[in-house]
Amino acid sequence: MPEAARDLAAALSNPTPELLLVVTGAGASHASGIPTFRGSEPDAIWRRDDVELATVAFFDRDPVSQWEWYLERFAAIDGAEPNDAHHALADLERWQVAGGGRFLLVTQNIDCLHERAGSRSLVKVHGSSDRVRCSRPGCENGAPRGSLPRSAFDLEAFRAAPSPASLPRCPVCCEALRAHVLFFDEYYQEHDDYRYEEVRQAARTADRVLFVGTSFSVGVTDLVLRSAYAREVPMISIDPGISGPPLSDGMIHFREPAELVLPEASSILLGEDR
Ligand SMILES: [Zn+2]
Repeated sequence: MPEAARDLAAALSNPTPELLLVVTGAGASHASGIPTFRGSEPDAIWRRDDVELATVAFFDRDPVSQWEWYLERFAAIDGAEPNDAHHALADLERWQVAGGGRFLLVTQNIDCLHERAGSRSLVKVHGSSDRVRCSRPGCENGAPRGSLPRSAFDLEAFRAAPSPASLPRCPVCCEALRAHVLFFDEYYQEHDDYRYEEVRQAARTADRVLFVGTSFSVGVTDLVLRSAYAREVPMISIDPGISGPPLSDGMIHFREPAELVLPEASSILLGEDR
């Protein structure tokens, strides 16, 4: 492992990047006990349940069942703590910024573990588990700009007796609230909080890209991968899975758990003089 950490530190720092773009996926939160919501195959596509349930179409048809499903997911997320991979990525940001460079962490995870570990330059491109929003677009609490803290709503009444009458509702227009996450049948441009333009801009200009625990099957990963590949930007992937992504020429793979290899690499970098 020390050798892998040294190689990773070298891949991140030689030469020093101007904009280090990090993309994290479910694998980054796996060691925190958050289910990946995918099948057991390394490159399995989303489980059929997820693809059916996490949609506007399903919300419109059966908001009660969708809320019950999300409350289960949120319960798993709320009980989780950041793991060493989250802390190491916050360290990596400190290292990059201390050296005068720019840093952006784009996560596909809706949990709040990156920010709790101290990451600052962070885009939660698939939304956030700690927010909800009005399901009526154009409402001040709905898309394209509005959202509310989930903690502002007492969801216990709904949990105890899920029904249309107990659904959490928008305090302004009384429409049902929904999770503040990107559904499978929605676009990144749907809500300003997904900050998709910023992600596109970073994808176009980053000169070092690090993927952590991503399966390369989701839109934003593909965007970053293609841009980096076309511009011959050095790419690094940390994932213990055995199958690689498409377009992986020039990508250095570390088939290690991120929570093991990243902390060592970050401490090597932070210990160096720059
Ligand atoms: Zn509303």
